[in-house]
Amino acid sequence: MKLQVQPKLIIHGGAGSSLHGKGGIEVVRRSLHKVVEEVYSLLLSGATASEAVVQGCYILEDDPRFNSGTGSVLQSDGQIRMSASLMDGALGRFSGVINISRVKNPIELAQFLQNSPDRVLSDYGSAELAREMQIPIYNALTDLRLQEWIQERQDNFKSTMAGVVAEPELVETSNARRGTIGVVALDGYGKLASGTSTGGKGFERIGRVSDSAMPAGNYATGHAAVSCTGIGEDIIDECLAARIVVRVTDGMSLKDAMQRSFMEAHQNKRDLGAIALDASGAIAWGKTSQVLLAAFHDGVRVSDTLELPESTEVGCLS
Ligand code: ASP
Repeated sequence: MKLQVQPKLIIHGGAGSSLHGKGGIEVVRRSLHKVVEEVYSLLLSGATASEAVVQGCYILEDDPRFNSGTGSVLQSDGQIRMSASLMDGALGRFSGVINISRVKNPIELAQFLQNSPDRVLSDYGSAELAREMQIPIYNALTDLRLQEWIQERQDNFKSTMAGVVAEPELVETSNARRGTIGVVALDGYGKLASGTSTGGKGFERIGRVSDSAMPAGNYATGHAAVSCTGIGEDIIDECLAARIVVRVTDGMSLKDAMQRSFMEAHQNKRDLGAIALDASGAIAWGKTSQVLLAAFHDGVRVSDTLELPESTEVGCLS
């Protein structure tokens, strides 16, 4: 089918405290840009927004640098529990898994659940589904994440949350482990979708539920789509993804919706970030945290938000 509109794509690899060490930034930049190029070419060849989002999530989940799939952070008991969700804006349909263990790509289950009458499954149910789907058992643990956890255990878990990205260089300098991933796409037929996948915030209590598999952290309609990252509790308290999307759906411009929502988040002292697209092709990002690791394709080139001044809260290209 011929493309009717210019596809747009934005992805993130988490938000948090600043990335010291330029070497680390360049590695993250290369990873993110490569994914943007690869997924954007799928959109150009006719993939739907949902297909592109799922593919982008697969690639980012497989990158041990980010806190989702392989390379997920460990919870307080030293186990990995991952959460992922997919929202198809055109269908208005949300699906996801919460606290799943021992699979390679949690987004695969979220995608499967799009066509199920029961669309959000928690730990036990998602493990059953993985078994039914005959998904092989997979150990998502990396040495770096294990070392981080052992260190944190020695310090009696005094960090409230893991840092941004798993780069040996960054981990030493900046407590860098946070790095949930998200993908938001506008396809060539004018449809939107969003996907988010995480290992959680790190060192959390068993059973803690992340925003990433809730409409607070991942939401889309026919008008706008958003994926969030940052402290899940803050994102849930703001109901950030749904808040931005509903504002746009009710007629506010994406830029105004982002500015207003981030002003409120800032006033409420939240630590979070979000990426967004609207159906007209506007691309936006926002953060109250120091950095947001996002990269996007505007139809002409790939750009990113890796070195924005810490004070920049919202950006929008329309
Ligand atoms: N939002 C995720 C959570 O709290 C973490 C993150 O975005 O890095 O589970």
